[in-house]
Amino acid sequence: MAKLKHPISCKALTKPPKDQKPPPFTGGFVPNKPTQNKVYSFNLTKVDALFDEMLLQKVIETPHRLPKPEELKGRQYCRWHNSWNHSTNSCVIFRDVIQEGITT
Ligand SMILES: [Zn+2]
Repeated sequence: MAKLKHPISCKALTKPPKDQKPPPFTGGFVPNKPTQNKVYSFNLTKVDALFDEMLLQKVIETPHRLPKPEELKGRQYCRWHNSWNHSTNSCVIFRDVIQEGITT
């Protein structure tokens, strides 16, 4: 699994819209049940973009090789878990990692 090295400060870290709802769950297995009504201080639709930026800034480290965009076509892949069971955007664990990276 990837790990967080520094606090996060990214451009993609934008304020959530008012009355933010998590993006619709697209199916697949998520290794933790999404907590209903959990409030995040960032925009949940930008999680994928955040991962990219955090990787560029070396805020996170991935021990695994990330698949190429063409390998991801039509499939769900979580770049945090290196898992084909769910997508990065629907990964509750990674949301918590971001949230923690902002507040600590
Ligand atoms: Zn995940």
